[in-house]
Amino acid sequence: MTDRRNFLKASLAAPALVAAGGASAATNDSIQLGTPCVISTWAFGVPANKGAWAVLSKGGRALDAVEAGVRIPEADLKLHTVGRAGYPDRDGHVTLDASIMDEFGNTGAVAAMENIAHPISVARRVMEKTQHVLLAGDGATQFAIEQGFPREELLTPESRAAWKEWLKTSKYKPGASNLGTPGGARNHDTIGMLALDAHGNLSGACTTSGMAWKVRGRVGDSPIIGAGLYVDNEVGGATSTGVGEEVIRNVGSFLVVELMRQGLSPQAACKAAVERILKRKPETKNIQVGFLALNKKGQAGAWAIQKGFSFALCDKIKQDRLEPGQAFFKAT
Ligand code: ASP
Repeated sequence: MTDRRNFLKASLAAPALVAAGGASAATNDSIQLGTPCVISTWAFGVPANKGAWAVLSKGGRALDAVEAGVRIPEADLKLHTVGRAGYPDRDGHVTLDASIMDEFGNTGAVAAMENIAHPISVARRVMEKTQHVLLAGDGATQFAIEQGFPREELLTPESRAAWKEWLKTSKYKPGASNLGTPGGARNHDTIGMLALDAHGNLSGACTTSGMAWKVRGRVGDSPIIGAGLYVDNEVGGATSTGVGEEVIRNVGSFLVVELMRQGLSPQAACKAAVERILKRKPETKNIQVGFLALNKKGQAGAWAIQKGFSFALCDKIKQDRLEPGQAFFKAT
């Protein structure tokens, strides 16, 4: 443990360390948004937020907003890390993970679900139509079909071609997704979204095709409540992106919310959660994990292991704002 601590201290002092700039780069402050507002992970969060804004700006419920918002990247055929056209597992199956959580602490999720294009909407049905929280695999697909969702082929010719290419080496190497590592370029990234509606209520959604080329049956953090997503209407919400195994090990999003409950700003809470991951397993400095948080006052913050994480913000003033997330390291 002492070695690990020393390693982290040394790592944090290394030249690769950066505080990647953001709107609030000069301070440790979070970004104040108006109410209502919505935030989400990565650049694909910009169009997703607009989908959510269509609901929020009319006085709609945060839950409806986050569902509508993340359905946009789920349907985008150019995105290979969320929904339809997601890169498959090592055996060529597209398996999707998603979760949703409302202002009452209700939650629903699906894991490793195949052949259904909008896992977030199935997650919402799990929440609203069953007494369960999480359905997985064939059972999740069966439930979705019973609920009227069409069975569809989600593997597009482009994703199939990428998989065939990957099969030539078959190396599973997540790396830092946003850094263009060979075979690792954009091979994972999740849309996590948090919204605060005009009534002051929070909800969140998280959806992904997970890590490309994963072992069949692998489930990431996104459908695990407390890991990939957590919302407490008294405090705030948090969501994550990056290598899900590390987020699950540290119950990341729950940790961020609990840190905010203790008084940390959203950005400081995200930073502390990333620090926890690095402390417990210093070699995580070579992968990417990012957290995004929104508190009850409409303050937003984010932090990541690697520079390159970005998050999209939207309120009445500006609907297409994209900010770089601050980070501990600049991958070399
Ligand atoms: N968190 C996702 C997973 O592990 C992947 C990502 O967001 O990059 O499935």
